[in-house]
Amino acid sequence: MIQINELKKGLTMSEENWHGIPRNKIPWYPSIDYDKCISCGKCVEYCKLCTYEFQEKDGKERPVVKNPNNCVVLCSGCDSICPSGAITHPSKIEFREKIKELRKSPIFRLKKNDSISD
Ligand code: SF4
Ligand code: SF4
Repeated sequence: MIQINELKKGLTMSEENWHGIPRNKIPWYPSIDYDKCISCGKCVEYCKLCTYEFQEKDGKERPVVKNPNNCVVLCSGCDSICPSGAITHPSKIEFREKIKELRKSPIFRLKKNDSISD
């Protein structure tokens, strides 16, 4: 059985797979609500994996999720540093459901008896 905390240790931006699942198939990355974002730049500064970048958007310099697959699977550290609550990640429940779905595909290499739990 794979524990959530154990899974958190497993991935860095240089890895292309997460427990046998291609990283680009895993929907775990931040989303920015631009109605709330005040373009303070804290998220860009905080994430050392360069998930964010400033770009011109709607005529303003705004943060964008430039490299979503750099986001460490199950990290949600930047959600709480955003002063306006503009950053969110998927819920753990949604995440587990998606992983279960992906594991059913024979192209993924998860071990037969592994399962995801808190
Ligand atoms: S930390 Fe929040 S408010 Fe500041 S730039 Fe990032 S998303 Fe916008
Ligand atoms: S959750 Fe963690 S890894 Fe992902 S973008 Fe935020 S700080 Fe970076």
